[in-house]
Amino acid sequence: MSLKLDGKKLSLEIEERLNDYISENKKIAKRAPGLAVIRIGEDPASGVYVSNKQRACSRIGIKSSIFHLEENVEQKEVEQLINKLNSDNDIDGMLLQLPIPKKFDEQKLISHINPSKDVDGLNEINIGKLVKNEPAMRSCTPAGIINLLRSQNISIEGKNIVVIGRSLLVGKPLSLMLLNLNGTVTMTHSKTLNLNKICREADILIAAAGKPNLVDSSFVKEGAVVIDVGIHRLKSSDKSQTRLCGDVLLEDVISKVFAYTPVPGGVGPMTVTMLLVNTIFSWQKQFGLSSTLNDLFP
Ligand code: NAD
Repeated sequence: MSLKLDGKKLSLEIEERLNDYISENKKIAKRAPGLAVIRIGEDPASGVYVSNKQRACSRIGIKSSIFHLEENVEQKEVEQLINKLNSDNDIDGMLLQLPIPKKFDEQKLISHINPSKDVDGLNEINIGKLVKNEPAMRSCTPAGIINLLRSQNISIEGKNIVVIGRSLLVGKPLSLMLLNLNGTVTMTHSKTLNLNKICREADILIAAAGKPNLVDSSFVKEGAVVIDVGIHRLKSSDKSQTRLCGDVLLEDVISKVFAYTPVPGGVGPMTVTMLLVNTIFSWQKQFGLSSTLNDLFP
């Protein structure tokens, strides 16, 4: 039987550790870790993501502050808010909830975030340090995937790993993290030819294309580990119901794989947990706190 990589369970276990860590270290820091979330406009999915993050923070004792700006604010005003949060000593981490309305220069805003508070790991300084394999904030979804693999002692070193997708959010940073851990990584994308043939070489196959059910059994080698990053809400044929699915057609591949992540309950919960971890790493650094969480660094 194939092994389910249960992100929900692992994220709860990590949250328990984070909760204990904060309780123990609050006496030294004399304040809780602080996370600021900037949301612009009314994108409903963003609203759901922000409340999930807020709830996760309150479960473990991080103080979250939400800055919800109207769509008609100017780029300059958002930059001023970021500058203010950069110099706020009670804020350890900050993120800009994406997507934001098109009129804003997203990259410029992210560049304004102090790299040591950039808990999404998207600032170019942090990406540059990832390229150089130096310690820095690492982006959350890739870091969550590394922790999921580690939790089941699935080794990365020397493995053939194929990543489908080359986005700045997932595919690229994930490929670099796996390379830094001595995997032999192939990054593929929408223009890759013979995708399923390349994927069939993978000991570990990671699908982050954002295409529902793209990966069927023709993509998968017997005994491979398959990680599904995609998340899609599909309507039933009579449109009366919706269900979640990933980039992997699980029922077609499950009998072939050694291990897999479910959707939901695989990569998704780990992404939020790694945001909490990054906020605590920044707090730890600021106050010189103990390094007992360092095994969570990808
Ligand atoms: P994106 O659209 O920015 O990038 C998709 C990448 O996949 C691109 O590099 C593109 O070249 C490649 N691609 C698209 N179609 C392809 C195809 N047919 N064959 C091969 N490659 C193809 O998306 P993203 O932000 O990287 O997200 C990818 C998916 O992961 C989405 O479904 C997103 O919702 C999901 N996601 C989930 C989490 C989570 O926490 N679970 C976090 C981030 C993203």
